[in-house]
Amino acid sequence: MTARVLDGQALARTMQDEIRPDVAAFTAQHGRPPGLGIVLVGNDPASEVYVRGKVKAGTDIGFRVDLERLPASATLAETLALVERLNQSDVHDGILVQSPLPKAMGASAEQHVFDTIAPDKDVDGLTPVNVGLLVQKRAPLVACTPSGIIELLDREKIPIAGRHAVVIGRSEIVGKPIALLLLHRDATVTICHSRTPNLAETCSQADILVAAVGRAGLVTKAFVKPGAAVIDVGMNTVTDPALAQSLFAEGHPRLGVFRSKGSVLVGDVHPEVADVAGALTPVPGGVGPLTITMLMKNTLRAARARAGQPVG
Ligand code: NAD
Repeated sequence: MTARVLDGQALARTMQDEIRPDVAAFTAQHGRPPGLGIVLVGNDPASEVYVRGKVKAGTDIGFRVDLERLPASATLAETLALVERLNQSDVHDGILVQSPLPKAMGASAEQHVFDTIAPDKDVDGLTPVNVGLLVQKRAPLVACTPSGIIELLDREKIPIAGRHAVVIGRSEIVGKPIALLLLHRDATVTICHSRTPNLAETCSQADILVAAVGRAGLVTKAFVKPGAAVIDVGMNTVTDPALAQSLFAEGHPRLGVFRSKGSVLVGDVHPEVADVAGALTPVPGGVGPLTITMLMKNTLRAARARAGQPVG
């Protein structure tokens, strides 16, 4: 079997085209576009890439996107003050604080900053208010990667209700919220993590397997029930030649990318899984583009809600 490729890039384009007229309508009605403020502290190279993608996608669709930068030396107080300014801003409907914050800011800094975001502008769905509402199945703003995965499953007509979904990873941003969303859609959900024994065996019972770990090629054929839908959230930059060679057979185009660039972006799912899975998201071009698109959808929802309109 060769797994059907779940093309997140194509779906992201479709969804962006769908919301473009809504963004134009909002702009015409309110005399300003829906606005997103992105807070970037320091210059982590991966964060720079992610933020660039968000600014470009948002601007292309017609949003106002302001990148608010602070130096790596910024204090927690300065970061909180910036978030407070965006909370008060009339032109910003959504606030996204790019993770990770510099380590020097302290272990609890991120939580502190997320806690400060006004819940009605929390387009990443990370404030305690929105997480609580998510648990109760009534969150207006849900974390972008998990909601993008549900959108992808729905549009690809992969049934969720009554199926066994296994999620590897229990982070606040992916693992926990995707487990809740799958539960709300009547899947039977198992959450696995770094301390789960017999990981492959548990995963091999899944009809829907979501890998959100951050370990290149962790999910091998042994983890996958034949025909299962496999969603690869992981984004790992491989620079080790031995690892690259263990992932891709000689002659594979991605190995060519590695040899010419010295690195290659891979997911948590080993490419050999394509031989067993029924459907599989590629990396890149799977979940990543949907995350950015859901951020834009959330920003539009937040803008409409703040303007007293139905959110759609
Ligand atoms: P995280 O580090 O916060 O969480 C990783 C989780 O994996 C933890 O819950 C941990 O218990 C679990 N884990 C670690 N080692 C394990 C192992 N050997 N076996 C089983 N479980 C293990 O990571 P995160 O923020 O959830 O991100 C996970 C991955 O998804 C990363 O590669 C990240 O870059 C990627 N990501 C991608 C997108 C996207 O848009 N595509 C968005 C967010 C995160």
